[in-house]
Amino acid sequence: MNIHEYQSKAIMKEYGIHVPEGYPAFTVEDAVAAAKRIGTPVVVVKAQIHAGGRGEAGGVKLAHSPEEVRKYARELLGSILVTRQTGPQGKKVNRLLIEAGAHIKKEYYISFVVDRESRCVVMMASESGGMAIEDVAAENPEAILKEYIDPAIGLADFQANRMAYALHMEQAVVPKAKTFMKYLYKLFVDKDCSLAECNPLVVTEENEVLALDAKLNFDDSTLSRHPEIVALRDITEEDQKEREAAAEGLNYVNLGGDVACMVNGAGLAMATVDIIKENGGEPANFLDVGGDSTPEKIVAAFKIMLEDDQVHGILINIFGGINKCDVIATGIVEAAALLSGGKEEFPIPVVVRLEGRNVEKGRKILEEAHIVNLFPASSMDEGAKKVIRLAKEQKEKK
Ligand code: ADP
Ligand code: MG
Repeated sequence: MNIHEYQSKAIMKEYGIHVPEGYPAFTVEDAVAAAKRIGTPVVVVKAQIHAGGRGEAGGVKLAHSPEEVRKYARELLGSILVTRQTGPQGKKVNRLLIEAGAHIKKEYYISFVVDRESRCVVMMASESGGMAIEDVAAENPEAILKEYIDPAIGLADFQANRMAYALHMEQAVVPKAKTFMKYLYKLFVDKDCSLAECNPLVVTEENEVLALDAKLNFDDSTLSRHPEIVALRDITEEDQKEREAAAEGLNYVNLGGDVACMVNGAGLAMATVDIIKENGGEPANFLDVGGDSTPEKIVAAFKIMLEDDQVHGILINIFGGINKCDVIATGIVEAAALLSGGKEEFPIPVVVRLEGRNVEKGRKILEEAHIVNLFPASSMDEGAKKVIRLAKEQKEKK
């Protein structure tokens, strides 16, 4: 789960991490009032969306007067911001953060993430902080320094020290930077974060160490013990279809391509996405109907997939275990009838590969239903090739 920058900063502040004085604003009047309350010569107006890259996209504005704050707040609120992290459709700006302008001496990057390979939390930092850390990571990965943290010991003093010196921080700043790192690590562990990132972390002209940007992501499977985090959820930032699917007990992730996949089990979902990619297709989603699919669930899954105009073909790849193939087949037939008003056809090509328990029964049900636009496949590879070809034809027809 993600939260907004201003929410992340409020949590950081609770942990003793220094952040600029700032207030969220939902209206232009809120923004102007916040700027007056802050009272610094420069106030920053920042779009709050669940995506970075706002600075280079015009979502972070320096204002030198309340009039300028008003102007920027007016421009930003309600606008669609397209950044390198939002995708081409962008994200609507419903909230702003108004905060004191800092006298930046130098910008750094710092983050904590769970590193799967070493199975511990890693602290990463760089002197090349600021807006283009993605480029640094891609072109110059050695500029990103790492400290692996032993979970039994936590972030040790020597590690924080080593990092501060490796970042060439001035002597006077080192103790403050160390404190910053230790507090951020404590927050990361306490709140079950999957990511805690400040880009930039800055040293100011006054030699203060400040989190100028803040991003916290939380491990969804721990949310039951963090009601205070759940309360920060902004559902307008979350994918509409992913939310609908979750309500139906389906595990759905939007991937943006044109071949939808309906599978059971996360492993099979990933394999299906891979095989579509390998055959030159673009998966539209990752949809796991789970191990206990009922015909109702299959129908719900179809509805979610067909709502997407970009989807031109569906690959159903089910391995029957607890899920019996005949139950799945019945669900598919019911879905076809329901979606076509009893005509027994699918609006776009649907390729089905069934394997496992009761497979013969399942195949027979599908065969005898004579559904238009339904195509059987006897292997994953055949299924992937077929659905990609059919989706292409469907797209050309449109
Ligand atoms: P994003 O990462 O989405 O581009 P940031 O919060 O990192 O947004 O802001 C982008 C840039 O704007 C920062 O790198 C920094 O140079 C500047 N900036 C952000 N907040 C402030 C602030 N309070 N005072 C001065 N400059 C700021
Ligand atoms: Mg940033």
